[in-house]
Amino acid sequence: MNITIKKADKLKTKPNPNELGFGKYLSDHMFMMDYSVDKGWYDPRIVPYQSLYLDPAALVLHYNQEVFEGLKAYKLEKGGVGLFRPGKNIERFNRSAERMAMPPVDPNVFMEGLRQLIMIDQDWIPNLPGTSMYIRPTMIATEAALGVRASKEYLFYIIVGPVGPYYPEGFAPTRIFVSDQYARAAEGGSGQAKTSGNYGPTIFVSQEVIKKGYSQVLWLDAKEKKYIEEVGTSNIFLLIDNELITPPLGGTILNGITRDSVKQLAKKWGYKVSERKISIDEVTEACKSNRLTEAFASGTAAVISPVGEFYYQSNNYIVNGGQTGQLSQRLFDTMMGIQYGQIEDENNWSLRID
Ligand SMILES: *Cc1c(COP(=O)(O)O)cnc(C)c1O
Repeated sequence: MNITIKKADKLKTKPNPNELGFGKYLSDHMFMMDYSVDKGWYDPRIVPYQSLYLDPAALVLHYNQEVFEGLKAYKLEKGGVGLFRPGKNIERFNRSAERMAMPPVDPNVFMEGLRQLIMIDQDWIPNLPGTSMYIRPTMIATEAALGVRASKEYLFYIIVGPVGPYYPEGFAPTRIFVSDQYARAAEGGSGQAKTSGNYGPTIFVSQEVIKKGYSQVLWLDAKEKKYIEEVGTSNIFLLIDNELITPPLGGTILNGITRDSVKQLAKKWGYKVSERKISIDEVTEACKSNRLTEAFASGTAAVISPVGEFYYQSNNYIVNGGQTGQLSQRLFDTMMGIQYGQIEDENNWSLRID
């Protein structure tokens, strides 16, 4: 499939690389491709970054037929541009699409569109330590029809923009609020898909916990409010008696690529790694008896985010004296080192695309 390219006549002014933040700036171009039931995917193109034209009855606006992904491009230490396990994001995008009754995107077209877009806008990839280019592939249902059913038309697009380091003030443990009132995903629902409808309802809960002085919410299972699931939009890990535990997938938890990478590294380093149900009571008991030595969240944005404290039912549980643990630090350094091409990449996770 041939990708047509229309370059922007006028380029935007690039932001100050010291003040990037997250998601504030987007580059000069975007990738787009249309779908109809009759034609399949057609007209893959790179065009100047632009607003979308949507009918007010477009199905995405009413019933959330939408899926997205999040990954990053890094300026490599020795020159060139790298992606981290992008094939996994493409696979997950198509699994999310299947759950939302949306058509899959050919992985080769996806990858080629992504690669060419990043190359055209490569001057937008910042190179200060910890900075990168965030990539947001998205698919939306565009058919104008108010019935609750699958759209016959879709738009796939990719937008990119520079993002700053997640920890501008240094790698710092966070305070986590355990919610026994709200739930993110129920069994049989769509929790394992990266679809917008899973995120909107969490904003209210985040606001509530931020007001109380916490940075994220730890979600429990929707049915019993007993087993831990995820923290914010990241996966969760606990180190108890040298066993690294993360909840099993099973439909309500997102299959994080960072989660998978953490599991593989920890196994290689000799840790016992378990995917098993773990109750909040087991976590708080292990914390009280000092057997919980580390807890951290994993995800593309922060890579590793150590937990310094859990708040649950009026009690505070301090993890590792509120300090970053050794394993958390080692995982963070190793993953970042691989992503920026600073250390050996034994698993071939970094893909050079220039
Ligand atoms: C994206 C996401 C994650 C992390 O996935 P990564 O592939 O590691 O970035 C975890 N949980 C939720 C709910 C997410 O949306």
